[in-house]
Amino acid sequence: MPLYKKESLEDLRGRVDLVEVISSHIKLQRAGAYYKALCPFHEEKSPSFIVQPGNPHYHCYGCGAHGDAISFLMNHLHFSFVEAVETLAERFGVILLTSKEEISSGKRVLKEVLDKAARFYHYYLLHTEEGHYGLRYLYNRGIDLDFIRTFQFGYAPKTPALFQKWMKEQKVVEEDLLDTGLVKIDSQGRKRDFFTDRVLIPLHDVTSAVIGFTARKICEETFGPKYINTPETPLFKKSRVLFALSYSRKRIAKEKRAIVVEGQIDALRLIHCGFNFVVASQGTAFTQEHANELIQLGVRQVYLAFDSDEAGGEAAVKVGDLFQKKGIEALVVLLPDKGDPDSILRDQGPKVWQNLLDSAIDYLTFLVQKFSKNLSLSNPSQKNELIQMISDKVRMWDQPLMVHESLKKLARLTQVPEQMLVQNTSIPPIFTQTSSRLSKVDIDPDRILEADFLRLLFLFAKSQPNLLSIAKTNLTVEHFYLSSTKRLYQQYLDHPEMDLLSFTIDLENPEDQILLSEILAKKVNPEKVVESFVYTVQKILDRQWMAKREEIKRKMLQQDSSEENLSNLAKQFDQIKNERPKVVCPLQKTENNKTSLEITQDFNSPI
Ligand code: ZN
Repeated sequence: MPLYKKESLEDLRGRVDLVEVISSHIKLQRAGAYYKALCPFHEEKSPSFIVQPGNPHYHCYGCGAHGDAISFLMNHLHFSFVEAVETLAERFGVILLTSKEEISSGKRVLKEVLDKAARFYHYYLLHTEEGHYGLRYLYNRGIDLDFIRTFQFGYAPKTPALFQKWMKEQKVVEEDLLDTGLVKIDSQGRKRDFFTDRVLIPLHDVTSAVIGFTARKICEETFGPKYINTPETPLFKKSRVLFALSYSRKRIAKEKRAIVVEGQIDALRLIHCGFNFVVASQGTAFTQEHANELIQLGVRQVYLAFDSDEAGGEAAVKVGDLFQKKGIEALVVLLPDKGDPDSILRDQGPKVWQNLLDSAIDYLTFLVQKFSKNLSLSNPSQKNELIQMISDKVRMWDQPLMVHESLKKLARLTQVPEQMLVQNTSIPPIFTQTSSRLSKVDIDPDRILEADFLRLLFLFAKSQPNLLSIAKTNLTVEHFYLSSTKRLYQQYLDHPEMDLLSFTIDLENPEDQILLSEILAKKVNPEKVVESFVYTVQKILDRQWMAKREEIKRKMLQQDSSEENLSNLAKQFDQIKNERPKVVCPLQKTENNKTSLEITQDFNSPI
């Protein structure tokens, strides 16, 4: 997260109108001095979600949900803290200055330029002779005017300099145009349009602002591949942008499922037909980062609807693996020969598509079907090869239970005794799996652990008050190693009621600001928060426990220890060894006055 200047954040806090933010996402009804609504955070028939004009907090009398505009965006749309801050700043016209004096409105200017460009290309498609050539192509593909307007398709002219001339008339400066990637300098030093003679579809970020384009050529002679994207810019990072997510985000977060298709037109067609929980993988370019983007939205199920040809099959194998690996169920939608989602919806309608979704098969069954096409299961060596190939894949997955259950299923599908496949996998003991989650840059494990703890506390303690009591019951400031985490934790204990924005504003120490910005830059899966939290607290307790043992060991090895001293130390060591601290979870009263908080310790870190 960029370090925003205090003044910018204060400015933002002063300008945000909570009623305006919330009313654009859920329906608010006026009730005297208040607004009420059906709570978006729990199921209910009569409204108990209250917002009051002028009050920066919402409150639900049904489930206790409470927070400000930032936490609303984080909980309702699964935004990160930074995304929420930037969205609000854009909406309420606040320029976020970063502490390096660098104006983060730089991005805002680029977005304005891209918005102008999108309008130019759209106009050009609809209202010029050259554009009508592109329009004819789209009509021939069954894309009608309504579709074109909804998704703001455009056309990049072949005529040189037209685009640049128009942008100049709009007072766009050359440097900004170069920064958007829409104009580039060629080897002779001339400024050239990046897109020419192509149909364009705008790409959006979480705030629905245009951040780039994807462009298809419609005539064989046009230079370059069939599709090209905006080059990497400060706004457009190919590895992070999922096509169509801006249209689908809300429903994906709500229903916790998503469809992944290959083609961009496929994705837009699905959205147009009401299946607005879809993203496009942009061919084989779907990476773990893209999968994580969906996982962080809370997705539990993904439908992979790829072409029925060899390449589509390969893509389904690869993309399915990225989800299964993380414990998310992948279902493969089997499309008829030469059929793609776009043509199926156009020719046969949404009902047929819905049926295809409903009859999607699970990933393992798909693998067995796919790989057994060229092998004979009645031949022992070929059957062995097939099972080996699939079980090797499954054993690479991160979640031990998923591996275990999938191998059992594989045994059933291929009719071999379960023990043959399952025997060699044991579910590893708790608290062992961490390495796969840490990238090479995360070097200091203490910093990571303490940051994980604070992240969960800061992001979720408002919606899950038991987090704060678990923290207070088990940990003191002394449990932390880093001076910044010590200070942040103490400050939080002193002011648990403070919202995150105010908390950020009040930090004085630059080191604390840096740590907090690191903490808030990472997204957390909102599922299993309490379990993750208990797991993290346990790790902090374990760390201290092991440090104590190490300390005694060190003393025992000191040469000048007397006999008596040594035996004392040995006793202490044994005693500590048997007293591994365990997280104490204070009991919570629920509405029925029963105690709750069921926590199982049999899990790997769900963070
Ligand atoms: Zn509620």
